[in-house]
Amino acid sequence: MKRYTYIANWKMNSDYNTSMRYIEQLVPFLKQAEQRIILCPSFLALAQTYASLAPTRALLGAQTCSAFAKGSYTGQIDAQSLKQAGCSFCLVGHSERRTYCHETIEDTVQQAKQLLQASITPILCIGETAEQRSASQTFSILEAQLTPLLNVYEDSCAELIVAYEPVWAIGTGTIPSRSQLDEALAWIKEHIKKQRNKADNTTILYGGSIGDANAASCLESPFLDGLLIGNASLDFQKFKNIVSLNC
Ligand code: PEP
Repeated sequence: MKRYTYIANWKMNSDYNTSMRYIEQLVPFLKQAEQRIILCPSFLALAQTYASLAPTRALLGAQTCSAFAKGSYTGQIDAQSLKQAGCSFCLVGHSERRTYCHETIEDTVQQAKQLLQASITPILCIGETAEQRSASQTFSILEAQLTPLLNVYEDSCAELIVAYEPVWAIGTGTIPSRSQLDEALAWIKEHIKKQRNKADNTTILYGGSIGDANAASCLESPFLDGLLIGNASLDFQKFKNIVSLNC
């Protein structure tokens, strides 16, 4: 049976104490979960989450990192510190970072470089807005976001994780139709194969308004290796239902 990857992005939707209580609730479930589960709490909760996950096989991810290794960048967190806090993964280019923090494609490239240097696997988030889709720009946007990121890997044999997250699907309750999803995921797979001349060690995820009512239909896509889950990952029953789907 295929082993899927499930990434829980808690964003800033859970304060420190709430996150700690939630992890206590999650641990017994995580201990027996067969799938690869990656939790991305806020920065302050990383180290304690890492400690709490010790009896489980779940892994830790951060939600972003600095584009710089070190220096006078007030308020930023470097990739090396994320590694020391126990992170194996980190989101790069989430649309909320691109929108609210004005992160550019060049910023995402520098972040991915920092992460690879710190032996953290970047989770490359790409996706088009509703306007871009209506203007038939979906693939040119995906290409503009993904190509420079793939260049960072050069000969690296790090796992390549790409999350297709259409901006119009995040937090809206709308998900792509099956044909829209397959078309985008197939394009991403093909693009990686062409640019890197290989597609091994690649994980393709979908993210945007996944809940326990629509996860199963998405997972039917033959191009999908897992899901990136925002809001629903903070609801224990929903998260458990999603992760247990293909057990
Ligand atoms: C996300 O922001 O990465 C995400 C998938 O959010 P949601 O599931 O809440 O749409």
